[in-house]
Amino acid sequence: MADDSEFATETPEAEIRDTDIVFDCPHCGKNLVIDYRGAGLTINCSDCGTPVLVPIPDGMDIKDLDLDPGEILKQLFATRKNYQKVEVQLQQLKSRLSQMQEALAAMQDVVAEGLSI
Ligand SMILES: [Zn+2]
Repeated sequence: MADDSEFATETPEAEIRDTDIVFDCPHCGKNLVIDYRGAGLTINCSDCGTPVLVPIPDGMDIKDLDLDPGEILKQLFATRKNYQKVEVQLQQLKSRLSQMQEALAAMQDVVAEGLSI
């Protein structure tokens, strides 16, 4: 029988299947579960929202995936490249942020001086 009642009776807790990848968010430690097809991709942590790279399980055969191996590798490399780019961008944003915080502090000093005159 293939009607929707099957889904309706499911518990809100996502069921962990054998094919799911279970790992901890490296940022907040939240236990994450993702379909095996997400291996090597970047997802956003459901708890802290940080993009995390889904680990590829040991012994996982690339043939197990629905996509062809060339496509998988392309995605994997693209994901890794993006990840590195994001890391660089993050560092740039961090230094920009501290520059802006310094500028803001300087402006607040000026404003405080202006108000005291
Ligand atoms: Zn997290």
